[in-house]
Amino acid sequence: MIERLPTLEDLGDVSGRTVLVRTDFNVPLESLPDGTRRITDDFRIRAALPTIEWLGERGATVVCASHLGRPKGAPDPRYSMDPVAARLAELAPGVRLLENLRFDPGEEKNDPDFVSRLVRGVDLYVDDAFGAAHRAHASIVGPPRTLPSAMGRLLQREVEVLLELRRRPKHPFVAVLGGSKISDKLGVVEALLEVVDSLVIGGAMCFTFMAAQGLPIGDSLFEPDQVETCRRLLSTGKPILLPEDITGVDENGNYATFGRRLPPGAMGFDIGPGSAAAFSDAIMDARTVFWNGPMGMFEDDRFASGTRTVAQAMADTKAFTVVGGGDSAAALAQFGLDDRIDHVSTGGGASLELLELGDLPGLEALRGAPNVGH
Ligand code: ADP
Ligand code: MG
Repeated sequence: MIERLPTLEDLGDVSGRTVLVRTDFNVPLESLPDGTRRITDDFRIRAALPTIEWLGERGATVVCASHLGRPKGAPDPRYSMDPVAARLAELAPGVRLLENLRFDPGEEKNDPDFVSRLVRGVDLYVDDAFGAAHRAHASIVGPPRTLPSAMGRLLQREVEVLLELRRRPKHPFVAVLGGSKISDKLGVVEALLEVVDSLVIGGAMCFTFMAAQGLPIGDSLFEPDQVETCRRLLSTGKPILLPEDITGVDENGNYATFGRRLPPGAMGFDIGPGSAAAFSDAIMDARTVFWNGPMGMFEDDRFASGTRTVAQAMADTKAFTVVGGGDSAAALAQFGLDDRIDHVSTGGGASLELLELGDLPGLEALRGAPNVGH
């Protein structure tokens, strides 16, 4: 048990018992011309297998439950679990899968009646859905109120890795943040500044910081209402590393490289080569690195090189490396570097919230389970 969080071993004998496993099977799907849907990446299903197999090998009956997409509290064939059920049947034969939890409005509302229906006929509960652990939804916080409960292996590993980063990182600890919006990530920026030796900032986020330094940023994406906050963060004297050059387009829409000053009408879409090299050095010299958010608009190949350089440094460094965030993980996979990272988190929002607050509603719920000593 880590910090009063029960693990599978704390469930006791699972043989002959029915176990509800909350998984995160929110997989990417594509629509085929015949109207059916196909899973484009089954990573999230495979990630739950260690837990499902552990239970199955010990004689438990496993019932999985997950949400998929954002149906609005009613059955919607576009978000049917059928494609997931088909893949799960191949990977883990004999495991049952409930229909999309979000087909019932009670899931997101944390409705007690919905919880009662979920736990009916179930003996034990396992939460392995890290990607949803920051949501106080019925299937996350409801079952542990009455059922002996545990973290699955995936959730356990996420918690161990991310709490270790927060509490006892090996120094130098470097955090690399990018992505589109600073406002989404302000909480984690402030929390990381308390523990890191260097906070490296790229992505569209850097323009709000550069604006706060009084630099002209042309028409680059930035958040005017966050400039003051960025100015305050910069004035603390905490170690924030910003790009020294930028690539993007000039006022005519042509590819261009700039220093720290962008001319009127220009737009920055990536960190420049000098910044990429400097960020790479910071990653290579670190003993711990956390990365969230692409360095640029990497979906466009012209603006992928900053993200690619950072991803390559993450793969090459001797540091312990952790990546959170759906787009950052997708970038790593696109470059074929994902298997060279120590831990790629399955939860974007959840990993940031756990780093920021040190706890999540899903974890708090597990601590209150009847099999945890009080
Ligand atoms: P993650 O999912 O890894 O947490 P975010 O969702 O915060 O990352 O941000 C990813 C998005 O940010 C990508 O779609 C990328 O195109 C965009 N982005 C990054 N840098 C820029 C930029 N300079 N201008 C516009 N968009 C950017
Ligand atoms: Mg994203």
